[in-house]
Amino acid sequence: NNLIIAIDGFSGVGKGTLAKALADKLSLPYLDTGLLYRAVGRKMLDAGLSVKSNEVVQIAEQLTQQDWNRNDLRTPEVDKVASQVAAQPKVRAALLDMQRHFATQQGVVMDGRDIGTVIFPNANVKLFVIASPRVRAERRWLQYTANPNDPVKEEQIKQIELELTQRDEADASRAVAPLRPAEDAHIIDTDYLSANEVLVRALEIIQR
Ligand code: C5P
Repeated sequence: NNLIIAIDGFSGVGKGTLAKALADKLSLPYLDTGLLYRAVGRKMLDAGLSVKSNEVVQIAEQLTQQDWNRNDLRTPEVDKVASQVAAQPKVRAALLDMQRHFATQQGVVMDGRDIGTVIFPNANVKLFVIASPRVRAERRWLQYTANPNDPVKEEQIKQIELELTQRDEADASRAVAPLRPAEDAHIIDTDYLSANEVLVRALEIIQR
């Protein structure tokens, strides 16, 4: 009876922040599954491979924790390729057991796009986190940009928002594991909530 908490949502909605806080509070391991796709994308770029090549599937099959703990996985370049490799059915299949296996020892808080629908359809609790594109773009801008007084801040945020909504579109419309909330998922809108308020709400749901 290991506790499995599945958290899904588009990028930048705050699901990573929530998942980390929950894992901490409940003393559970945490896995950000976006990092798996990012690591595959990163290695694909490093090796100069194309998205649909068999080598990319091999990279996914052989992925290790060391690969997804690299610190060069959160760049705009990797954002793009991660979403491309994630649309490959064979890549997703290669990463499936790895994700399930991760939870067998002590349970897990896992975040991604298909955790409640594909990876753990029987998760104890499923949360689906949402936020408006503008708020998500502002959060990503803060993550990626060092200077809060940047004169081109507004243009940058608009550009991020555009790329983000394009990626949403790709994630939601792909043939394999399209992003959607599981039927039994609890929706949490983070637009007007602080990180701590989101945590409190999630804990209320979990403790029901
Ligand atoms: O969450 P993050 O932005 O790090 O994820 C990067 C990309 O990986 C997403 O755009 C999405 O296409 C893909 N992804 C996925 N399934 C997951 C986690 C991430 O398809 N469970």
